[in-house]
Amino acid sequence: MISGFRPGAVVQGSGNVSDHSADDANRAARDLSNSPDPLNGPPTPEMDRAVEEIGRAYGRQIDGSKPVQEFFDYNGLKMQIIYRTPPSKTDAGHMGHIHVSGSK
Ligand SMILES: [Zn+2]
Repeated sequence: MISGFRPGAVVQGSGNVSDHSADDANRAARDLSNSPDPLNGPPTPEMDRAVEEIGRAYGRQIDGSKPVQEFFDYNGLKMQIIYRTPPSKTDAGHMGHIHVSGSK
């Protein structure tokens, strides 16, 4: 894990509350990486496999070689799994890490 609880965190560029802004039963987030550059990437084969395994744990079929943007409900939580997405106006991008979060 490279990052978890970031008090006051917002989604870069959007101002929306980030799931990194809390770390309790109602909201929590983790970023996972073994890339030399967790922000800019590159993605790694290990992260490709990890995101597929994480998806499997939630009953999702994910192809770790492609951009991943999974948004779904799981046991009352709004889940997000994000990986391999390039930077955009509203997001710093996920080329170098896997984002996994849930919120109520
Ligand atoms: Zn994140």
